[in-house]
Amino acid sequence: MRILIVDDQFNNRMLLEKILSRYGTCDFAANGLEAVETFQFALEDGKPYDLVCMDIMMPVMDGQEALARIRDIEVKSGVASTAPSIIFMITALDTEEQVVKAFFRGGCNDYITKPVTLAKILEKLREYGLITD
Ligand SMILES: [Mg+2]
Repeated sequence: MRILIVDDQFNNRMLLEKILSRYGTCDFAANGLEAVETFQFALEDGKPYDLVCMDIMMPVMDGQEALARIRDIEVKSGVASTAPSIIFMITALDTEEQVVKAFFRGGCNDYITKPVTLAKILEKLREYGLITD
């Protein structure tokens, strides 16, 4: 599978890569704007991401805004109803406001709270049928 890892902190990107690289090819973005651009390019290139793991707190454009824009791109390109990406928000901000915003306004599939662990990621990958082992 193709995976887009989005986080402004290098260490967080590397941690996610360490966990996810055995399940697919990982690309990276360091802020929301890069994520939106990378997502759009991949879609236009015919290589859409199966999974996006996205931090919320980032400079330039935060994860909430990027999430909304990515879902908008999916609607406009016609894949929203057929093959939308699974998007997990990865956040230290486990507040009701942020979670509600991500789910109901942004359309994320799920969220994972920091610190990210192998167990948390594997649980979600299994839940969404991205891995079977
Ligand atoms: Mg951050």
